Amino acid sequence: MKTICVFCGSSKGNRPDYLESARNLGAVIAERKYHLVYGGSQVGLMAATANAALSAGGEVSGVITEYLQQKVGHTSLSHLYVVKDMHERKMKMFELSDAFIALPGGIGTFEEILEIMTWAQLGLHAKPFGFLNTCGYYDKLSDFLDYATREGFVKPEHRTMVLSEESPETLLDAFMDFKMPNVEKWIGLT
Ligand code: AMP
Repeated sequence: MKTICVFCGSSKGNRPDYLESARNLGAVIAERKYHLVYGGSQVGLMAATANAALSAGGEVSGVITEYLQQKVGHTSLSHLYVVKDMHERKMKMFELSDAFIALPGGIGTFEEILEIMTWAQLGLHAKPFGFLNTCGYYDKLSDFLDYATREGFVKPEHRTMVLSEESPETLLDAFMDFKMPNVEKWIGLT
């Protein structure tokens, strides 16, 4: 595992803990000598993560669309990939990365991490991914995933793919031990 992709809010959130958690994650990624990939902007938790990694001597790649780059692009990253649209952006972030972390964030963050989960359950990749559950932010989404599993829409083996930890060190350690379950997606066809 060399490159970690972080999805997170383009906002800072209302609690100082979110900003602190983003900075801490960026620093830990750099201290562990991982390369950080993120959405390339200079706003919100995204900027906090990237700037902390850069300050700790880390290598940071941003992947951003032309439009977003003009509005909110970070100007001092190690590498910046400017892409045509959001689909190309997500594919580029996926290709560059060996593992994925969702810090607290909004709709964009949910969409990004859930797409990684969707691709995993289809067997399109075996890369680890999880939530950095700062202040229990993802507890309700975790509860909902449990509910979807009980209701028969998510296989229990697929539910267990999504890791969730409160400390970045524990989450990164869990990634090292991660084994993707080998289960067919299609419920009811076996
Ligand atoms: P959200 O959680 O809704 O704030 O969306 C954040 C996620 O969507 C990030 O991980 C980005 O990949 C993408 N995104 C949303 N807003 C921006 C932005 N202003 N600049 C770059 N990426 C963004």
